[in-house]
This record gives sequence, structure tokens and C-alpha cells, in this order.
Amino acid sequence: NIKPVADIALIGLAVMGQNLILNMADHGYEVVAYNRTTSKVDHFLENEAKGKSIIGAHSIKELCALLKRPRRIILLVKAGAAVDSFIEQLLPYLDKGDIIIDGGNSHFPDSNRRYEELNEKGILFVGSGVSGGEEGARYGPSIMPGGNKEAWPHIKKIFQDISAKADGEPCCDWVGDAGAGHFVKMVHNGIEYGDMQLICEAYDLMKRGAGFTNEEIGDVFAKWNNGILDSFLIEITRDIFKYDDGSGTPLVEKISDTAGQKGTGKWTAINALDLGMPVTLIGEAVFARCLSALKQERVRASKVLDGPEPVKFTGDKKEFVDQLEQALYASKIISYAQGFMLIREAAKTYGWELNNAGIALMWRGGCIIRSVFLADITKAYRQDPNLENLLFNDFFKNAISKANPSWRATVAKAVTWGVPTPAFASALAFYDGYRSAKLPANLLQAQRDYFGAHTYQLLDGDGKWIHTNWTGRG
Ligand code: NAP
Repeated sequence: NIKPVADIALIGLAVMGQNLILNMADHGYEVVAYNRTTSKVDHFLENEAKGKSIIGAHSIKELCALLKRPRRIILLVKAGAAVDSFIEQLLPYLDKGDIIIDGGNSHFPDSNRRYEELNEKGILFVGSGVSGGEEGARYGPSIMPGGNKEAWPHIKKIFQDISAKADGEPCCDWVGDAGAGHFVKMVHNGIEYGDMQLICEAYDLMKRGAGFTNEEIGDVFAKWNNGILDSFLIEITRDIFKYDDGSGTPLVEKISDTAGQKGTGKWTAINALDLGMPVTLIGEAVFARCLSALKQERVRASKVLDGPEPVKFTGDKKEFVDQLEQALYASKIISYAQGFMLIREAAKTYGWELNNAGIALMWRGGCIIRSVFLADITKAYRQDPNLENLLFNDFFKNAISKANPSWRATVAKAVTWGVPTPAFASALAFYDGYRSAKLPANLLQAQRDYFGAHTYQLLDGDGKWIHTNWTGRG
């Protein structure tokens, strides 16, 4: 005799789940909480959820009985088998038109599959990226839902109520069909890898190249956070450099220089290769983490391999920092231009209708890559929804043109100093490649034809494929 009183249910009471439930309750929703290990339900109800509009369920059957129709159920569990397992457990208790929302970091091909499987059963599946970590989930994340569009009118209000707001607009909108929401979340995470790598390279140039103290580096990030680079990642970097653990040595310098990764950056790079899109900066960011992880090998190499040793910096520090800021900004523009190239190609390949201005707005607040910069991207795509490339927008074209001399000077310094800047340098190489009407691939085609008879086309030919006997041998 359970009454269907609740607006929505959430399964998965780890960090993200608990905070998202509290966020929904704060906005006046009656929420059912459930977890595989049900003792966590009781603990949650007796502590964080006490006195709020949150009901505990101790079985999937009870959870489903408590929900108003159509049922709305969010999964915030470990991506992979746990999601499929809960979908299986839910199905016997659901009716046609009920909605399952996977809010975890699922890989988008899994969401494509789940969308199809559930569509056949009349269940509406939504794969939704959620970004912003613990704090975001609690007070306003960026939410990127995609899947079965029939579900959107039923979840729109809740999702937009609890999401972050940027300039008064919710950082949550419908992304597109099937796995599009998780695809866009994946690209978000890839861009996050790129942004972090760029900041690390700037730090390395200031520290190893120009010999700045940590105090000075912290001041630079503080200053940058008030300018064109104003963003969450620059802000936390400033705080990291200002953090004092009382030991006299900055904590950041005591942390092992081997980066971890959970795979979403790698997924983006693999997808870029699959779709043939030159998303070079994110690729370099993933590889930079891989190289960092080879710590022991690097230590051995550092003892035997020659290269320039950092010399004492005697230049103008302010000029160096200003150039570095421009270099970071230009590289960041390239990274986002590449990310949107991937999104454009995915839309074409997978048959999704994606709204680039909406995507930029969803990333504008609440998530890890949130920044003032994303407001300019939103503006660019609102001005021209069919913009072929961000670099063709006047604002970004002019910004990158202005940054050009500083960008080149910075990369040149890095090369001279022997400080690795794979993201800065590959961004610049991409830019020069992209603005080249002619690339040396003519030679490449000749080579392919020489050794493999792969044939080539002539520039002023009629599209005919030609093979040449390059050696004259029969
Ligand atoms: P998590 O550590 O990824 O997952 C823990 C939750 O998953 C627990 O509720 C756990 O239940 C459940 N679970 C794990 N394996 C299970 C299985 N085989 N069957 C059933 N339940 C299982 O939690 P999280 O960090 O809160 O993240 C939740 C989701 O959001 C993940 O997909 C994550 O990638 C994504 N996400 C996380 C963040 C973040 O900042 N943490 C940000 C964005 C997105 P038990 O308690 O019973 O073990």
C-alpha cells in the first residue's frame, strides 16, 4: 500500500548521488534514495538527509512504488556493469513511458546501446553527463542530457532548477539523441585534460625556464584569473600555489609528478582518431600524462640524455608573463576549436542534431572547464549556428591574430630552453597546418604510390586516380 508520492528517485549514494539528492530536495522535490548497500540508505537518512524531503527505499520494488508517473529514476553509480545491472533490476517494475536517466560517466557507445534496448521496451532512456564534482552536484552542476527526447519535457524543469546558472541561464539543455549527452560530456572531459596540460606547461616554463618562485607563479595565476583566462581551473591553480601546509616547502612541490587518468580523455582521443579529426591538443594532453607516469624511466634518462640546461633568466619578467598568457589563450582557442570540430563530425557520423551554442552554454558554469571564455564561444555560435569553425568567427580570428607573435615567441623559448610544451607547440602546429592552403601531402601521396601503388590525384586533374611506375622497372 505504498503511495506514489515522490517526484524522482536516485540510485547510488556515493559522493555525487548524495549531493545531487540534497540539491533536488533544496529545490522542493520529493526524492527517493536507494543504494546497492542499503545500510548507506539508513546512514544517509539519519544524517545528511535528516529533515529534508528525502525518502529511503530498501528495495527496487519499493523505490518504483514510491514514484509518481511517469517514473523518473536517476542512476549515479560506477559506470559499466553496475548501470546495466540496475536497468535489469528496474525493468520488471516499470511501465511504458517511465524514464531511466544514467548520470554517471558512461562511455557514449554504451548509452547508444541502452537507448536502443530500452526504446524497444517503451522505456525512455536518458544518458546525461553531469560535471562539477561534489560541489557542483550539491549547488549546481553542468548537466548534459541526451537520449530519448520524449523524456525531456518530464525532466526539464527538475534538471534546469538544480543546474548551475550562467548569466541567469541554466547550464543544462537537451543535447541530442541516443548517446549524445554522454558524448558531449566525454568531449568536455577531453577539453579539461587539455586545459590542465596547458596550465601545467605554463607553470613549467615559469618554474624551470624563467626560474620564478612559487609565490611569483601564484601571483601570475591570480592576475590571469582576472583577465581573458578567468576560469575555474586557473582559480584553483592560484589557490594551489598559495596553499601553505606549514612545512616551509610548497605542498605542490612535494607531490609526485606522475599523473593518473580515468579514461575519458583517452576516449576523446580515440574517438578523434576514429572520426579522422585532428584533435591534437587533447591527444598530446593524454600522452603527456602517459609520459609523466614513466617516472623511473625518466629519472634514468635524465642522467644520460643531453639537452639544454635551464639558464638563468635575465629577460623582462612582465613581458615574458604577458607573452605566456597570450600563448596559453591562443592554444586554448585551438583546443576548443578542435573539440567543436569533433562534435561537428560526430553529429554528421552519428546522425545527431547538436546545438553548439547550447553546448558552450552548458559548459559555461558548474563544470570543471567553466570560464568567461565559454561565454564568447556561446556568442559566436549564437551569431552563426552554422559556423564552420570557431577560428572563422571574427572575435576568435582577431584574438588569435593578436596572440600570434607572443605564442610563437613562447614556443621558441620553450624549445631553446628544453622545456617540453607539447600542448602549446601542437596547437601552434595545428594552426599553421589549418591555415595552409597547401600542405606537403603531395609528397606523401607520391611515396604511397611509389611503394604501394596506392595511386594519387593531380591538383588540376579531373579527379582521376593515377599510378606512376616511379622506377621504370617492369
Ligand atoms: P563511484 O565511486 O563512481 O560509484 C559508487 C557507487 O556505485 C556506489 O553507490 C556503489 O554502491 C555503486 N556501485 C559500484 N559498483 C556497483 C555494482 N557492481 N552494482 C551496483 N552498484 C554499484 O561514485 P561517484 O564518485 O559518486 O560517481 C558516480 C558516477 O558519477 C560515476 O559514474 C562517476 O564516474 C560519475 N562522476 C563522478 C564525479 C566525481 O567528481 N566523483 C564527477 C562527475 C561524474 P555500493 O555503495 O553498494 O558500493
